[in-house]
Amino acid sequence: MSVSVGIDLGTTFSAVAYIDPQTKLPQIVPNSEGRKLTPSVIQFLDGELIFGSEAQESYNAGEDDCVATFKREMGSDRPYCFVDGKAYTSEELSSLLLRHLKEDAEASLGDTIKEAVITVPAYFYSREREATIRAAEAAGLRVKKIIDEPNAAAMAYGLNHWRENASIMVYDLGGGTFDVTLVHMGKNGELSTITTRGNHKLGGRDWDARMEDILIAKFENETGLSIRDDHELVSIVNGMSEGVKKQLSAQNMLAAKASVSFPGYGNAVVTVTRKEFEDSTADLLDRTGALCLAVLDEAGLAIGDVTDVLLVGGSTRMPQVPAYLQKMFGKKPLSHVNPDEAVALGAAIQSSKDNESYATLAVRVVDGKKTTDRSKTGLNSHLSVKAEKKLNSLGLLSLRETTAHAMGVIAINDEENRYYNEIIIPANHPRPVRAAKRFRFYTSNKANNELAIYVLQGDSENPLDCQITYKYVVTGIKHKTGTVIKIQYSYDVNGVIHIQARQDDDTVDLPIRRENVPADISVFGQPVKSENKDQGFNVGLQLGVINTQSVVHKYKPITFSNVEWVKYDNVSDHPNGDEFDEPKVHIIANEENIEFHGYNISEMNEGVKYTISPFDDFEIECDINTSTISPHPGGYLEISLGLISAQLTENGGDILMDGVSVATVDPCFHLKMSLTKGGQYEVEIDGKTVGSKFKASTNDVDVRFGFVHGSHYCHLLSHAYVTDISMMQAVAGETDDDDSPDTEPWDD
Ligand code: ADP
Ligand code: MG
Repeated sequence: MSVSVGIDLGTTFSAVAYIDPQTKLPQIVPNSEGRKLTPSVIQFLDGELIFGSEAQESYNAGEDDCVATFKREMGSDRPYCFVDGKAYTSEELSSLLLRHLKEDAEASLGDTIKEAVITVPAYFYSREREATIRAAEAAGLRVKKIIDEPNAAAMAYGLNHWRENASIMVYDLGGGTFDVTLVHMGKNGELSTITTRGNHKLGGRDWDARMEDILIAKFENETGLSIRDDHELVSIVNGMSEGVKKQLSAQNMLAAKASVSFPGYGNAVVTVTRKEFEDSTADLLDRTGALCLAVLDEAGLAIGDVTDVLLVGGSTRMPQVPAYLQKMFGKKPLSHVNPDEAVALGAAIQSSKDNESYATLAVRVVDGKKTTDRSKTGLNSHLSVKAEKKLNSLGLLSLRETTAHAMGVIAINDEENRYYNEIIIPANHPRPVRAAKRFRFYTSNKANNELAIYVLQGDSENPLDCQITYKYVVTGIKHKTGTVIKIQYSYDVNGVIHIQARQDDDTVDLPIRRENVPADISVFGQPVKSENKDQGFNVGLQLGVINTQSVVHKYKPITFSNVEWVKYDNVSDHPNGDEFDEPKVHIIANEENIEFHGYNISEMNEGVKYTISPFDDFEIECDINTSTISPHPGGYLEISLGLISAQLTENGGDILMDGVSVATVDPCFHLKMSLTKGGQYEVEIDGKTVGSKFKASTNDVDVRFGFVHGSHYCHLLSHAYVTDISMMQAVAGETDDDDSPDTEPWDD
């Protein structure tokens, strides 16, 4: 037999729990010292690893061979510490600790551990979650699931105190992190998290630091020594700060004494009152309070809608915490769970359960911003809270977690002058969840067709205010005209992000490589530069950066800028027999404008041509001014898009559809021509649709704009066409509906 466990891998303390086979209830597994909590501290003593209270004591005594609080840097590649010249990352240190927890628990249970549910702060980003999984696997643990600490605590609470329709605010203040999560108790034991916020650089350690400041000031006052400038003296005071803080938590302890023997001075004793400590830390509590309000705001609830506040985390033992929350919420917070144990117990409950299946994306737009559509949660329906009951079986309890951070990608706005965060999956969305998007992608035959995707976590519109979590590069895109790339974004059960891509109707994923996010990302805070666009043409990777247009879900008109003019290819055909390198007539064409400039017009034919495959949708929009033809009588602008055609002189002319005039235009007008997916052609002039028609054939379609003069008729346009409209120049995507996935997600 082997067992499944739940592990609370804390910043300061860790705990392991399992489901007792007799009682079928979660229970803490004591460590080899018989204690329920194991300090998250490692001592490297002469090549040997020491854990438990011995390591903790050495750490408190300021021994420099001890490491602690490494969870704060989880997911970072930077070494957290160096021991005997060897660098250790937080992930590696966590792995050492997890291996110890595993072996200790196995010894205590007399059984092997098969798999584990491990808890992390709700606020952990994808990279930190992945690092946690890797650390566990390196420690020989199979990870069944990663769950969020507040949700685990809510599970442990809900098991014995189920109240249907209750909204519980879980306030988790640990050693290094703060999380606040609103959970809802639904029907049938369904616990769902609604919104979550946190600060993973705020916790008991910050209160310790304030206590250290108070003590140093008092000892300096008392002794006249300059303690602050002396590393050794500071570390003595540092080691005792947490203890003094805890003393002040005891009931009726309104003041605590601290005594230190300073080298060269002797014993000094000072007193810190609870009031002094509370005054000097009030701002820290206010920071937690602000996050509580933010969570309510996001859920669309008022303070009065909170059924109860549940205290989790060792730091909620400080009396000012419940006092503060009581003032804020007008009710005494619950302390029904042991704040140190609830998280591990909840993880153990989860370890006995199957993982959830993928939820469908539910998004709505509020004030122009994508948010999670929570209309089906029953949260705001103000159903009355039912009487409390004990769920007498773990089987009656289930958990649906939400994503703490929105997931987005760096995209270029419609005006193509600025990068922004295009949110794909909003924050506080139930997970696991997938969304798949289609993008039309114009490949090049000159470069590797690669598409870079910068994945963001965060709500801000400015990419630099979000965490750039990953850079993915989709590779192996086959060159073809107007292909469709489908990109699937997922948050898995663990809150880890995955990106997949497929081309057209392929059923296998395109290869994707992950690259380091560039160290200098300031470019995303700057206006989009046109040379960035050009670079993209040659550098596959850059294409994606710039061409994140491909992941903007806006239909983009074709751009005729950077047109590559092909020289008149047969000079002997030229009416004057002159050789020339530069076209004498220029058509300056870009997405807004087509203009005609030139002289010696009879010498030249110029134009742009693009072939599109029969089932592509396509749209061209431009302002046309043919009055500039006037110095060259007899010349005209030839336009064609399959069924749509026109020959316009300096006076304008007729726009034809399948040979029949649908409009007569002046020299200046705004033209939009489109071919939509079902094969429907449309002409729009100055914003009004003037004609539409279905095409009959399934042949490729040529799009051409060209200047024709005299005997040089339209067929010569083929001498002057765009050889390659790269993906840079032509990007189209999802048509109009921005808010729903436009293609079916697929399974892994
Ligand atoms: P984590 O989950 O981050 O490991 P815990 O929930 O175990 O943290 O809480 C540890 C924190 O709680 C530490 O900062 C510790 O100082 C603080 N703490 C524990 N007991 C008390 C107490 N009686 N009074 C004040 N703080 C406490
Ligand atoms: Mg904790």
